[in-house]
Amino acid sequence: MPGPSLGSLAVIGGGVIGLSVAMRAARAGWTVRVHRTGDHGASWVAGGMLAPHSEGWPGEDRQLRLGLRSLELWHEFLGQLPAAVVTARESLVVAADRADVADLRTVADWLSGQGHPVIWESAAREVEPLLAAGIRHGFRAPTELAVDNRAVLCALVTACEELGVAWAGPVHELAAVAADAVVLANGMDAPALWPGLPIRPVKGEVLRLRWRKGCLPVPQRVIRARVHGRAVYLVPRPDGVVVGATQYEHGRDTTPVVSGVRDLLDDACTVVPALGEYELAECSAGLRPMTPDNLPLVHRLDERTYVAAGHGRNGFLLAPWTAEQVVSELLPVGVQ
Ligand SMILES: Cc1cc2nc3c(=O)[nH]c(=O)nc-3n(C[C@H](O)[C@H](O)[C@H](O)COP(=O)(O)OP(=O)(O)OC[C@H]3O[C@@H](n4cnc5c(N)ncnc54)[C@H](O)[C@@H]3O)c2cc1C
Repeated sequence: MPGPSLGSLAVIGGGVIGLSVAMRAARAGWTVRVHRTGDHGASWVAGGMLAPHSEGWPGEDRQLRLGLRSLELWHEFLGQLPAAVVTARESLVVAADRADVADLRTVADWLSGQGHPVIWESAAREVEPLLAAGIRHGFRAPTELAVDNRAVLCALVTACEELGVAWAGPVHELAAVAADAVVLANGMDAPALWPGLPIRPVKGEVLRLRWRKGCLPVPQRVIRARVHGRAVYLVPRPDGVVVGATQYEHGRDTTPVVSGVRDLLDDACTVVPALGEYELAECSAGLRPMTPDNLPLVHRLDERTYVAAGHGRNGFLLAPWTAEQVVSELLPVGVQ
């Protein structure tokens, strides 16, 4: 028998952050309601890499620490989701030309200098035979994971329903939300409800390529690459790969444009030529909710309001940590 409720909690936003917070809070004993729109948000578009090492860059030590902490928590989090949401258990990061090799070497040296488990490779095709001839150098990050973002969202909705989480429509005004505590988890749109939150949209195009009969097999690990200074990644799915992602500021535009799609296809096929035979199943674009220091905003705003937004490029990676952090700060009714 569940104990008495700790109080009522309204979570605004039904993306990976809102759903993770809702699931964690319902487990902790809150009576939870998620307010959501019909719009899928950034979470539906994402690649699903849980990749603190290969996302790392010298100087971004806090982001790295946070990512590693959340990756640890993912192992427990996965216990609450179907095993099939995991689509890869390693990343291989490779370079196309000499300047790209030098960039990767900088990152690998910074990581291994701090004792992180990354392994430099000078015969990358022996690790991943699908790589193009001529791609030799890079590093492996053997503790990274990738998940199917859409399968995770569906599993979180199911888990929330099993825990008795209720659903409601979008919120237009915070004052109208009846609840003991409120979590703003509406990503890009958090500043519309709490003006001044420093979150800006950074657009990213993403492609979904589907395996076809006769094609070479889908890669078993995440392949990330620097191709003449541009970054591209290939994230396995049961039926193909997700290719991402461009990164530029263009307001709230979520239309995939030709030049972005062309660059992704060029770079993906430069790295794994066999992808040229796959079906181009989907082109989409989403908005990363970025903050000035690339760290998420996860803290209390006033007596009953909390923010959990601004997760930028790493909302999936940081979801379990965010949920833990928010729920640990929520004050049960009577303690406020
Ligand atoms: C191209 C691309 C690739 C990415 N790849 C990765 C990756 O590989 N790994 C990773 O960790 N992260 C990745 N990300 C980042 C990740 O997708 C985001 O950080 C994450 O989805 C943010 O989640 P969220 O729940 O805060 O926001 P969202 O997913 O945007 O969800 C917010 C939801 O709130 C809803 N909403 C807005 N206003 C209201 C309101 N007033 N009332 C109710 N609901 C409201 C929105 O409609 C939306 O559904 C990627 C992002 C992009 C764009």
